[in-house]
Amino acid sequence: MMESARRVAEKKDWIKGATGDWEIVLGLEVHAQVLARSKLFSGASAEFGGEPNDHVSLVDAAMPGMLPVINEFCVEQAVRTGLGLKAEIHKRSVFDRKNYFYPDLPQGYQISQYKQPVVGEGSVHVDVDGRSVEVGIERLHLEQDAGKSLHDQHPNMSFVDLNRSGCALMEIVSKPDMRSADEAKAYVTKLRQIMRYLGTCDGNMEQGSLRADINVSVRRPGGEFGTRCEIKNVNSIRFMGQAIEYEARRQIGILEDGGKIDQETRLFDARKGETRSMRSKEEAHDYRYFPDPDLLPLELDEAWIGRIAASLPELPDEKIARFMKDYGLTAYDAQVLTSERASADFFEQVAKGRDGKMAANWVINELFGRLNKEGKSVDTTPVSAAQLGEIVDLIGEGTISGKIAKDVFEIAWTEGGSPKAIVEARGLRQVTDTGAIEKAVMEIIAANPDKVEQVKAKPSMLGWFVGQVMKGTGGKANPQAVSDLLKAKLGI
Ligand code: ADP
Ligand code: MG
Repeated sequence: MMESARRVAEKKDWIKGATGDWEIVLGLEVHAQVLARSKLFSGASAEFGGEPNDHVSLVDAAMPGMLPVINEFCVEQAVRTGLGLKAEIHKRSVFDRKNYFYPDLPQGYQISQYKQPVVGEGSVHVDVDGRSVEVGIERLHLEQDAGKSLHDQHPNMSFVDLNRSGCALMEIVSKPDMRSADEAKAYVTKLRQIMRYLGTCDGNMEQGSLRADINVSVRRPGGEFGTRCEIKNVNSIRFMGQAIEYEARRQIGILEDGGKIDQETRLFDARKGETRSMRSKEEAHDYRYFPDPDLLPLELDEAWIGRIAASLPELPDEKIARFMKDYGLTAYDAQVLTSERASADFFEQVAKGRDGKMAANWVINELFGRLNKEGKSVDTTPVSAAQLGEIVDLIGEGTISGKIAKDVFEIAWTEGGSPKAIVEARGLRQVTDTGAIEKAVMEIIAANPDKVEQVKAKPSMLGWFVGQVMKGTGGKANPQAVSDLLKAKLGI
């Protein structure tokens, strides 16, 4: 497979070996479970969990004579994902049988798409360390998941759980376009984010709804591709990084010793942080793919695809660009706010009709900071967008200072209530009455004649006076007014 046209490799990604620099080349095959109520070819529940073999129809158990019936919603989800990856949607695709024997595969074959997948070439944009990288998508196809063998339930028996058998998976194959573990991690994170926005996969890696097979090779920078190894089923982003780093170093070691890389499938052992051989290319299966005679080719209607395209939500890249333009946010803040659709929506409720930067600051630093600390999310936040908006208003109109606003936030978080009402009930209004501020200023000046002498020679001491006056007014004076008045009275 050819790499996409991409930026020239940058030296910082290269790995130093004993005999010179090396560059990692990575291509990923991501399996994403389709978010759907029922399975790809049966009406059984596709829900995670349940008692073993609770979600199994006669089709999933491959009882003789049972026939698969395509679930239109799963096809729609695959097309929606393809559109989100800016990919070509194939109006005609074909389901094939991939033949192999395994106890958790009662059909004796997996229904997949081989030569004619439902989605063709597309691309995903990722930002890594401020650099922008386009990762090419080769294809996306639909296939069935297998069941699960359970070996640890009994000392000398194995069991089979078919709950997952027949669940719809999307296999998303990238071009060999990534050049570092960080790029691969950013790519999977972005894929997951896009699918969550689209509502096509929940992206839950612990539950296995997103798994990645990682193809790793190394080469001299810009040279010919090397022979690759495929690391199977890595189920966390952190492990992905570890597996890639380990595998690249292993291959570099072999090549620098004058050896050759065997194309093979490897497993990552998370406990040891190593990859180890599972099977070589020679032992690889011949799956004898052929079109499944029980299923007609999938023919998609142009207008139907058009309706799905029209219903697509605004995706992360577009949202980031809009937030930067409409609210004047930095790229970093826009990225933080759009990491999930719910947090982006929350921010927009706060920012609507208000100062965007101030709203972003309050959502990111105060709210997200606090939510993280307490293991909560915007869906379970005790301070609503309306409450946070009120706080931003109170600061904006000069009713409270930023410092008092933090106290108001704290009260709203722990006790609830409208920030306006909190400010009134507790007398937290900022003192703008210059008479009251002046009185406090004169008191501090009178009580500290020595400091008054010092500040005239050392104006940086003004901060100390401001602090004293703020203390004297219970933090309610307007700091700017205090500073102005002090300067006037001290003659500096
Ligand atoms: P196969 O048909 O053997 O599965 P593919 O051509 O479909 O191989 O590629 C599978 C994956 O391997 C793709 O994600 C692709 O980007 C990646 N890949 C192909 N060649 C290399 C290579 N030399 N180094 C790293 N990844 C590669
Ligand atoms: Mg493949």
